[in-house]
Amino acid sequence: RYYLISSILMIVLTAIAFYFILRLMISRRIYADARIAFTSNMTHEIKTPIATVALALESISKYNLINEPVKMERYLQMSKQELQRLSHLIEKILNLSQEGEEIKLSPVFYDVQAGLSDVIRSMELPLQDAGAACELVVSPEPCFIEGDAVHLTTVFFNLIENAIKYTINPLKLLITCSSDGEWITISFKDNGPGIPKAFQDKVFERFFRVPQPGNTLTVKGSGLGLNYVFGVIQSHKGTITLESEGGKGSTFTIKLPAASNEF
Ligand code: ADP
Repeated sequence: RYYLISSILMIVLTAIAFYFILRLMISRRIYADARIAFTSNMTHEIKTPIATVALALESISKYNLINEPVKMERYLQMSKQELQRLSHLIEKILNLSQEGEEIKLSPVFYDVQAGLSDVIRSMELPLQDAGAACELVVSPEPCFIEGDAVHLTTVFFNLIENAIKYTINPLKLLITCSSDGEWITISFKDNGPGIPKAFQDKVFERFFRVPQPGNTLTVKGSGLGLNYVFGVIQSHKGTITLESEGGKGSTFTIKLPAASNEF
């Protein structure tokens, strides 16, 4: 009898150990696959803006565009956008090293409505290129928070950039901002492909990207953006939620504590 009990115990313990080893192996494998995809995507993501700016500068000098202010302005705008994109990307990559740590904030009295307008204005060109209709609706109540301007700007940029990247039909993007005195609510609603329920929590995980049709990730990316967004919002003691049905667009809603008047 003693022999039977100890054998059963041995089998149970072996099964448990086997289960954990298998889980570790699978997660390592998934992580390794994600890292390979990440590196190849990053190569593309970093090279593209550099190549675009180099080409723009070359065109300006080669075709002597100083005498053609309209064209010249277009090339300069394009370069500015690309450098801004690169700088946001580097910001995200630098934040990779802070895993587990809270993102360090330099809080200021931050006007969310003005911040959103500025980001939208800075993204005029990519929005135009995507044939997008982008509308910002703000409440009459002011929306001030104690927040880090650089990180929040990058958060808004990421969410708008994703809407542009993943929407194939002409993009309709509705951005709203309102306050109930206690909480500031900001939402980004697009008419893109949506995110199936099964992946809705996962999209906030580092490196995760929703599988695209045919399993070819045609839209390039790093799988870092939403993880960064989540981290920044969490550091501001806020929340971010996603509402989406596959095929019916996505709405990301951020809630941040309103600034106290004494700040
Ligand atoms: P990246 O865009 O670099 O892949 P993100 O972390 O920003 O990384 O997004 C994770 C994944 O979530 C994306 O790969 C995409 O599959 C999905 N996603 C994010 N935003 C949207 C959106 N607005 N519409 C549809 N899918 C989205």
